[in-house]
Amino acid sequence: MTVSTLTKGVLAGERRALSKAITLIESTRDDHRIQAEKIVDALLPHTGNTIRLGLTGIPGVGKSTLIESFGLYLLEHGHRPAILAVDPSSPVTGGSILGDKTRMEMLSRDARAFIRPSPSGGTLGGVARRTREAMLLCEAAGHDVILIETVGVGQSETAVAGMVDLFLLLVAPGAGDELQGIKKGIVELADMVVVTKADGDLADAARRAARDYSNALHLIGRVDENGNVPVVTCSATSGFGIDAMWQGVTEQIAAAKSVGTFAQRRGRQAKAWMWDEITETLISDFKNDPNIAKTIKDYESLVENGRMAPGVAVQKLVGIFKR
Ligand code: GDP
Repeated sequence: MTVSTLTKGVLAGERRALSKAITLIESTRDDHRIQAEKIVDALLPHTGNTIRLGLTGIPGVGKSTLIESFGLYLLEHGHRPAILAVDPSSPVTGGSILGDKTRMEMLSRDARAFIRPSPSGGTLGGVARRTREAMLLCEAAGHDVILIETVGVGQSETAVAGMVDLFLLLVAPGAGDELQGIKKGIVELADMVVVTKADGDLADAARRAARDYSNALHLIGRVDENGNVPVVTCSATSGFGIDAMWQGVTEQIAAAKSVGTFAQRRGRQAKAWMWDEITETLISDFKNDPNIAKTIKDYESLVENGRMAPGVAVQKLVGIFKR
């Protein structure tokens, strides 16, 4: 398929074209990269009038179950969700942390929804770039609510929080009612905290957890641009609280739009994206430079063996690169 057929196909909301275009984005081949950039550029005017949500939480907190319920809820209400995942392969196991289990089965069967697993491999920077571009393509294809799921590995939350309008932290009613598994850094990125599994035996614990998180957020002085970080409870299995969660999302977005922080945040994100691209592009140009490719191994081993300071090697290599 040519660039223009793919572009037209995406705009017409054809899933096959959307999948193929995202595959181009994920490819590391230079010719694919050029085609992908053309597609993204052509589609850019058709993006942006959407809600971009990030969701994070430790494995087992209920992310995929909640995204499935929430996604079905959105479909019922006339929306067309797209779900993307940011899951840089674990550096230790090489495997995907979000897992290979069948996820979001009902949602994935509905033609109005679009689910794309994480691009595999590569640096977080590379994964983040591909996810941002995939998000734009989904928007151009008519998806109006984009959910980007991530799991707490390294900096992936920060990367996702930097590409969405609202970042939702999912927490489960914890054993012992401690605020467990929560690194302060992640709580500080959250625009909303969602306590999952608020059903059956866990309903009381979920309410207590919500109160504890509210208090904790106040204690650390965490207020969002509009003054507060809501804490909601919900159950993916019973459906309780899903509407309140969506209402919280739309209210926060309406508030942010009315005071101008919505556009400011997107503007900041676009600028940060540009700088990420500059970094990625320069590093890749550097690595692909024939003179660098010839000498890099020598400098690496000099540095490795302690015979040259890293800073000196950098000066010399950058000198070679600039020549
Ligand atoms: P993920 O690893 O964060 O994607 O979590 P999953 O969605 O796979 O859920 C982990 C476990 O929690 C599964 O055994 C689910 O059945 C269970 N679970 C998920 N959502 C709920 C819920 O709303 N209520 C209850 N009681 N259990 C849930």
